[in-house]
Amino acid sequence: MELTWEAYTLNLKTTFRIAHGASDQRNNVFVHIGEGMGEAPSVPHFGETQQGIIDYLERLVSSGFTDQSWDPFLIEDILDSLPSGSLAARSAIDLAVHDLVGKQLGQPLYRLLGLNPLKAPHTCFTVAIDEPEMVAERARASNMPFIKIKLGGGNDEATVAAVRQATNTHIRVDANAGWSREQAARLIPRLAEYDLEFVEQPLPVGDIEGLRWLHTQNPGVRIFADENIHTAHDVALHAGVVDGVVIKLMKSAGIREALRAIQVARALDMQVMIGCMVESSLGVTAAAHLAPLCDYADLDGPLLIANDPYQGVVYEGSRMLLPDRPGLGVMRKA
Ligand code: MG
Repeated sequence: MELTWEAYTLNLKTTFRIAHGASDQRNNVFVHIGEGMGEAPSVPHFGETQQGIIDYLERLVSSGFTDQSWDPFLIEDILDSLPSGSLAARSAIDLAVHDLVGKQLGQPLYRLLGLNPLKAPHTCFTVAIDEPEMVAERARASNMPFIKIKLGGGNDEATVAAVRQATNTHIRVDANAGWSREQAARLIPRLAEYDLEFVEQPLPVGDIEGLRWLHTQNPGVRIFADENIHTAHDVALHAGVVDGVVIKLMKSAGIREALRAIQVARALDMQVMIGCMVESSLGVTAAAHLAPLCDYADLDGPLLIANDPYQGVVYEGSRMLLPDRPGLGVMRKA
């Protein structure tokens, strides 16, 4: 099976500023295995760069990974043979293998997984860090019933207050690891007054003990872990510590581990949001196929990009319509 890739720069419609930093572009890599396609998003704060992704793919080719015989019913074996390394590249390979198998069997991925596409939760629309009035205006102008506000920029309470005043939408917020324990304990109960769905990743990456402590403070709003969670094992470590977890295909290195992470969360009575990185319709549509298993979705990537080269999931406002074509159902735009 032939493995090829294409480096591609996604241009964002507006500067995307979060607690980790700001960007106007993302340098992703599209991966092809035969007819199968996947996307490897570069994510600077996870150490995933375009060059690192390409290096991994070159290593795969020279290691003979693509020379093995492919049996579409042995996805687990194929993916188990991937060497460790770039999560983003492994995720793209996992997506491309699932896409390829779906195409070989003539079925959309959600059908291979036994999922009802009508059960996909609505996606939120993300508004990045900016002056509170700008954030409120973007939230209002989006006309979306679910808004996610990025926090950790210093004006957090004023920002949430401005959005709450400008709209009556559902609001969830994401600190992207931007607060200390003390800041979080002081700020979250105040933000809770504005009727939030939940707060994502308030504390620095890996501070599980801090989350456990925060939980005992009864912050008044549900807490979800995002950057802390990569694998099913990470989900288990957060049982009783947070109310929910955010699953993303890049973090779990693909669909297989994402499915395990979702099932572990379910077993531990935790809620699940499926999210994405800054990705085109290729990577985001793959995540959308798992959305029927999740309580919440944050899959607005394509809405933030000016030059999305693919078409896949279709948005009707916040509602996501999954393509019924085989595999991921994603096509290159003409
Ligand atoms: Mg997040």
